[in-house]
Amino acid sequence: MSDMRKFVSLFVVFALICCANSLSAQELNQNFAHSLGIGSSAQSYEHRIDLPENWAAEGKFFIGRGLTLDGKLVIEREELTRTYYYVKVRLPKATLWFAKGSIDITLKAGNADAIVPVLATPANLKVYGESYPKFAWSGAGNYSAISLLDRSNGNTLWERVILNDHACVMDEGSVKVGGKYTWAVKQSDETARYSFESQANFRVGTKQVNCSHCFGHGYVTCRSCNGSGHIVSNGPNNTPVYKICYSCNGTGRERCTFCNGSGHVTVPSIIPE
Ligand SMILES: [Zn+2]
Ligand SMILES: [Zn+2]
Repeated sequence: MSDMRKFVSLFVVFALICCANSLSAQELNQNFAHSLGIGSSAQSYEHRIDLPENWAAEGKFFIGRGLTLDGKLVIEREELTRTYYYVKVRLPKATLWFAKGSIDITLKAGNADAIVPVLATPANLKVYGESYPKFAWSGAGNYSAISLLDRSNGNTLWERVILNDHACVMDEGSVKVGGKYTWAVKQSDETARYSFESQANFRVGTKQVNCSHCFGHGYVTCRSCNGSGHIVSNGPNNTPVYKICYSCNGTGRERCTFCNGSGHVTVPSIIPE
């Protein structure tokens, strides 16, 4: 995925919503839709929404946000401060069909700090799987920010903000056999104030599993004779002539080419540390 081009567009939105009779909280809503043509590479998009000037003049600041995702759009990261909201979203590669999706953002402003306390750090971190790690954690937050770091070079390989769930799969890129990784997760509620991160390490080794092509037998049905071990042809006077199948020597089986006849294959394996 390193060759992936990233086109980043920046939108600065001044939404001027004026409610003369509002006492404390005010909301503004913004929707961003994206689409990619067939064959396009994955793309990230950045959006920033600033606190409307007239709200700032009234002494208000952002105190919370609500998000809704639609289509194939995913969130890579987000940040809410008193004066702006920033979000980076991403559309996956459009292989066979258009990729499209949208994000709906509701920002809440008020005069008082949100009373809701910052949530506890997520617990029970679990990682498992093969080339595409599956992550799970527990916690009370409806918004979880997860990141995957390659410890060999310190690079962030992958990051997502997961809505209303406490599990996800690495949906872009993969981990490599021999690699050492750290994954981290933090959570927030509607105030967008994130907890401290919980971290866990894992490495990627290998394991042997039954070959899925031959179900562990090491052989499959001979394609030349369909498993019968012989070939039938028309002889004189329409009498059938049976010959031993030259492909399988009459066994009706041929060696599985996926596992080279061993019945098992070596696959990457996530090993928590
Ligand atoms: Zn055969
Ligand atoms: Zn096999």
